[in-house]
Formats: sequence, structure tokens, C-alpha cells
Amino acid sequence: MQMHRTSVTDHVDLEGFMEGVARRNPGQSEFIQAVREVAEDIFDFIEDKVEYHEAQILRRIAEPDRVVSFRVCWEDDNGSIRVNRGYRVQNNNAIGPYKGGIRFHPSVNESILKFLAFEQTFKNALTGLPMGGGKGGANFNPKGKSVNEIMRFCQSFMTELYRHIGANVDVPAGDIGVGAREIGFMFGQYKRITNAWEGVLTGKGLEYGGSLIRPEATGYGAVYFLENMVKTRGRDLAGVTAVISGSGNVATHAAEKITQLGGKVVTLSDSEGFIHDPDGIGLEKIQWVKDHKTHRRGRISQYAEEFKGATFHGDRARPWAVPCDVAMPCATQNELNGEDARTLVKNGCFAVSEGANMPTDLEGVHVFKDAQLLYAPGKASNAGGVAVSGLEMSQNSERRSWKESELQQLLRDIMDGIHDRCLEYGRKSDDYVDYVKGANIAGFKKVADAMLAFGVV
Ligand code: GLU
Repeated sequence: MQMHRTSVTDHVDLEGFMEGVARRNPGQSEFIQAVREVAEDIFDFIEDKVEYHEAQILRRIAEPDRVVSFRVCWEDDNGSIRVNRGYRVQNNNAIGPYKGGIRFHPSVNESILKFLAFEQTFKNALTGLPMGGGKGGANFNPKGKSVNEIMRFCQSFMTELYRHIGANVDVPAGDIGVGAREIGFMFGQYKRITNAWEGVLTGKGLEYGGSLIRPEATGYGAVYFLENMVKTRGRDLAGVTAVISGSGNVATHAAEKITQLGGKVVTLSDSEGFIHDPDGIGLEKIQWVKDHKTHRRGRISQYAEEFKGATFHGDRARPWAVPCDVAMPCATQNELNGEDARTLVKNGCFAVSEGANMPTDLEGVHVFKDAQLLYAPGKASNAGGVAVSGLEMSQNSERRSWKESELQQLLRDIMDGIHDRCLEYGRKSDDYVDYVKGANIAGFKKVADAMLAFGVV
């Protein structure tokens, strides 16, 4: 009997495909946005590749393997019972165990985690390491909670999550609101429930299987990627003025690396607004931000009280109107829109490297591409973090720890490799490099070819 095959022409139309995605995922705007950004490039690429159409590969990658949603119940310091919603989205494990962070933030919902898990699938493939894509989290707001409340929340979250993960199944890590402390609480609970020490989480403390340079990796990697991009135009980062958003792990390490390479960082931000320091946020000031934000959980506005010459711009203002040569959005999704992108272009910004996931909205992406800016999407430029997570998994499997110099070199090599793959698939006929296209196609191809090998599963 002849197997029914979908006709090649059935699914070659981008708008028809996107209509289906929108219909199947009502109200999930972030997820639909992330799929569109990828589909715009993939439809071009697979136009003459019958096998990808027949096997419905993009449709399959845009349908998570599973979405687990669960109740997280915990007791606050007043003895009141609190209820949050936890999730794990396992998007695709064609090339390795599901891998991706956990986000604790009040905005967390299914759409945001599905977009992040979808993006992670391409990002992880780009690193060249064997990792699939996943993401998890909860609509829990760590702000204002005591350490004991955070511990109880993490333990309760892991009491459900543990049954869905494992060193060869799904390996979560940190993301917004989840750092070394939360990973410690979750790892402790996993070990307690399973009675097994395994490399089930990354971003662990150095004492219990963590990797050197994991905290620095996302920010440093995003700057290495920026450096590679500007090199294609015969430039380097010495003397550039950089505008950075965010003030967490990614932003502060990006600022540190730009400064070490001779650039001047003039802004950082948080959800309340941004600080502008025309003298430059040098290494000592960056250290102050790290201590103030990470250890004391303070606000960025206090920077302007601490350092003369700096100003704070409140009302949730973002830093994109501050003139700069290069910009690095390192805060969160959709923090840079079409108008912001036009302002950056008008002010002479020539390169943008994303430290956050999908910080530029679709209109902004098109503005950057039309202006032929050097523009790296997060799935390429912020992959250094998950790459070092992949190296942490290898070290755990090998039961050894690599030296810092080895890891620094590996991070460099991985970022260079991602840049090369973007050039391979993103170079246009006029020599402009479309890094979005390059990243989307290179990531897609690897996952798609693995899926083809498995048949219909
Ligand atoms: N949350 C980070 C990301 O967006 C890191 C994920 C990981 O290390 O697994 O890539």
C-alpha cells in the first residue's frame, strides 16, 4: 500500500504556515513571534528541498515534544500557603537531552516558555554540542522573598520537576531569577529525592560539580561574537562606546569584557529605568554593580547616588536613545522595538549583539537588517552560556574538572564556530551578512537532518 505523503506544495506558503501556528497557539504572541522569525528564513532555505517539506520538519520543531505544567505549593514566612504555576517545556531532543534554563519571574507563562524552548533548540544546535532544547520556570517573583522562602519554593518546584528530568533526559540551568543559589536548592532537593548524584542541572557551585567560567560565559561569549562581527568590517572594540541594558549576570559580564577590550560602557538598566554614566562604567564600578545587584539585590538607580556624573532615568525608560557605536540588549524579550532600532541606526550604532533571548521585536529586527547593521540574534550571540553548560555536563560525565584556561579557549572556539556557521548560511550576494538567517538555517539544518534520520517519530 502506498503511504500517503503531503504534497510538497501544501506547506510552502509562509503565511499559510503562520496562520496554522497562530490557530493552534491562541494568544501565545511571544511563541508565534519566535516561530515567525525562524520561518521567514527557513521557508526560503527549504524551497527546493523536498525532503524537509515531506517530513514536515519545521511544523514538528514548532510543536513542543511536551509541555508539563504543575502546581507549586509552598508556605511563606507568615505561615500562609502560596500557590504558583510551574512548567517545563521540552521542545526537541533530536540531537541531545533537552537543555535550557529555568526562569522565575511573575511574567512567566506558557507562551514565553514555549518561545524560549523553541529558540533554545536552534541555539543549542549552533554550539555544535549534543544538546536539545527545553525551558522551564514559574510565575514566582523572587523579589522581596526571604532566603528561606526561596529555598522552600525551589524545593517544592523540584519535588514535581524531578520526575521529568535527568542527566540523559533533560538538564535545566538558570535564567532570569535563577542563579547559583536557586540551582543549589534545586540540586539538593533532586539529590535528596532520587538519592543519586548526577549532572542533572548546570550552573552548579564549584564545590559540587559546577564549571569554571559558567557565570561569565554568556556575557563574555556575546562580546566575542560582537568582536567577530566588527572584525568583518576591519574594526575592533577598542575605543567604542557601548550601550548595554540589564544589570544581571549577562549584562555585567558583557560590560566587563567590553571594558577589558578597550571599549567604554555608558549604560546599564533594570525594570525601573537605566543609568547613564558618560565617564564609562569601568571595572571597579562593574564590581560595585555585581555586589549591589547580586549580593544585596539592590536597584540600579542607586548607582547614580554612588557615582558622580551618572544620571538615573526612571519610568521604565530604556537606554536606546543614548548615542553609541555598539549596543547589547541583555535584559529580556521585546525590550527593543522598531522605533528604538531606528533611533540606534540614526545615532550611528553599527553593531548589535543580543545577550538576552529575543530582546528585539520583529519590527526592530527588520529595521536592523534593512539598515545592513551588524546584528546578531540572541540564539547565536548569547549561546556561550549554554555552551559552557554543555561543557559542565561533559565534565560531570567524565567526573573531572577542566582548567580555566582550557574552558576559556573552548568558549572562544565555540563562539568562533557559531560565527563561521552564520557566515556560511547568512552571507548575501552583496556581501552583507544576515546573521539571523545564518543562525536560523545552520541551527535548523542540524536538528532537521537528525530528525530525518529517525523517520516519523
Ligand atoms: N538560560 C540560558 C540560556 O538562555 C542558559 C541555559 C543553560 O545553560 O542551559 O541559554
